[in-house]
Amino acid sequence: MEVKDFLLARGKFVVKNGKQVRFWEDWWVGHEPLMKQFPGLYNIVRKRNQTIASVFSRIPLNIAFRRALMGDRLRQWNVLVSLVAHVNLGEIKDQFVWKVNQSSIFSVKSMYSSLMEENTIPVNCVAWKLKVPLKIKIFLWYLDKGVILTKDNLIKRKWKGDAKCCFCNCDETIQHLFFECHLAKFVWQAVHYTFGIIPHVSTTNMLGSWLNGCPAKIKKQMLIGVSATCWALWLCRNETVFRKMYPNSFFQVIFKGTYWVRLWSQLSEEEMMKSLKKLCQ
Ligand SMILES: [Zn+2]
Repeated sequence: MEVKDFLLARGKFVVKNGKQVRFWEDWWVGHEPLMKQFPGLYNIVRKRNQTIASVFSRIPLNIAFRRALMGDRLRQWNVLVSLVAHVNLGEIKDQFVWKVNQSSIFSVKSMYSSLMEENTIPVNCVAWKLKVPLKIKIFLWYLDKGVILTKDNLIKRKWKGDAKCCFCNCDETIQHLFFECHLAKFVWQAVHYTFGIIPHVSTTNMLGSWLNGCPAKIKKQMLIGVSATCWALWLCRNETVFRKMYPNSFFQVIFKGTYWVRLWSQLSEEEMMKSLKKLCQ
């Protein structure tokens, strides 16, 4: 499911000119989209994703089916027609009303809470359980899915630019930028050496089996630490790419990382907060 679908599934349209709302797929009449209220009809409809304006462009409705409407389907059709018969299209744009919170105003936080409550996003990514800001959870989830906008991913989206890493001459991929580039290697070596832990080799490993067998508390701390390090690497990369501000040394990434850990530690309970701050000293 695309982000857009998640979003549309959580709001209802107020139909005005009908040009922005899909007749079957969007929620605008009744308690859910018509495709869910009348699945038997939706299954045999010839044209999907038709706007309400297009459906009401003819009388009776501009909807064609692949099979004749008989028996139960005909009954369903009559119910549907009576449900939408009141519609009078106007001139102004359709409105979208967010149904998740009482204010009806969309916020990332309410969408996130709604997704978490319904378990519609894969919570198996460890990122969702970490005490870090929401935007970092999303960043880690993207990293885990391999869809962070590194240059190889941009090229897949038809971006035309230099595919090279901004710190060296290799092609920029997630694996390269976060693990194999000399800058990343220096940073991770320092982290692993300082804490005496085995190195991780990839995102899947880092957010997966790495540190299996470690006490849960240590694992949580280390995951917050490596998340901050990845975030710091990504910010350094962006500063270099977009503002031509090259890091003076790999220490700059480490300082940034420890800054984030200290800041995010406020989201943890007191004991964890203290240990995280201690880690950064
Ligand atoms: Zn590189």
